[in-house]
Amino acid sequence: MGEGSDKGSYRRTVVLGLEGTAWNLSCALVDEEEVIAEESATYVPAKGGIHPREAAQHHAGHMAPVVGEVLDAARRDGIAIDAVAFSQGPGLGPCLRTVATAARALALRFGVPLVGVNHCIAHIEVGKWKTGAADPVVLYVSGGNSQVLALRRGRYRIFGETLDISVGNALDKFARQVGLPHPGGPKLEALAKSAKEYIPLPYVVKGMDLSFSGLSTAAAQAAKKYDLADVCSSFQETAFAMLVEVTERALAHAEKKEVLLVGGVGANSRLREMLNIMCEERGAQFFVPEMRFMGDNGSMIAYTGLVMLKAGVTTPLAESRVRPGYRTDEVEVVWK
Ligand code: AMP
Ligand code: MG
Repeated sequence: MGEGSDKGSYRRTVVLGLEGTAWNLSCALVDEEEVIAEESATYVPAKGGIHPREAAQHHAGHMAPVVGEVLDAARRDGIAIDAVAFSQGPGLGPCLRTVATAARALALRFGVPLVGVNHCIAHIEVGKWKTGAADPVVLYVSGGNSQVLALRRGRYRIFGETLDISVGNALDKFARQVGLPHPGGPKLEALAKSAKEYIPLPYVVKGMDLSFSGLSTAAAQAAKKYDLADVCSSFQETAFAMLVEVTERALAHAEKKEVLLVGGVGANSRLREMLNIMCEERGAQFFVPEMRFMGDNGSMIAYTGLVMLKAGVTTPLAESRVRPGYRTDEVEVVWK
């Protein structure tokens, strides 16, 4: 592991990472420079939203082929694995347990350390890795989380977050209520493009915190009366303005000069546009990783496991229990 003692005898560190907190089972192999391999299997609910036990069964059923592909790639290239990282939380309990069980087995099989990774921090670290952002305010918006974070005194502090459901969940819930399939975010974005009018919807920012539950319900009510495209667009405008407001205040408060957008909802071009305008007005730099690193992916877990491993952080088997409510600010960021 790490740098060799002789000049030129540098050996790269390689970490296998497993993600599976919710809808995506994903396994990746990374080193300091790049993603060597990544394989994923996506759970799509037959109807309704994500069912935790069904999703876990999906992950269990796809574990062998998904991990197998990545191990084949390692074997083909004669790559030795230095550690196994896994998403320890936050996430859906049954999904987390499935992934942790596989990760423990792999670590034992290869005789390498296990690294339990905080899923939210992995979104941030892969975002920084892939964009070059150094010390950003992070807007993390996904199916499970909506948080504004920044690194301060060795921890990713949560400056603001949702008090109820995440923005992605709100979009998905509304989409289901108007008869659109899961996940709703991309479908709403497409519909919103043909909007003509703005419909006022509940805008709820309390201090630095946000609420999306009422917005989702109000939008579903509005969809009974108004044009669906108008409601979709107004939903986006309202929710994203809330997120931009809190991000802007965090930027001022934390005295940072960068904004990093991560999480699946970050795929939305209107949200990017609004953040970009805010950053330009504030003289801040705006960073968005390429699409494959925005939503849940194995590379982000593998990469974060790698930086943790290099900083000497590993997870003994006895401490590898899953943590469905794992908070970002519980983690000491010793690798920075
Ligand atoms: P994640 O949990 O980070 O994998 O992100 C999944 C969430 O991102 C789901 O709630 C999706 O509806 C949402 N999402 C994906 N693409 C878009 C988009 N273009 N606009 C808004 N939300 C999106
Ligand atoms: Mg996520």
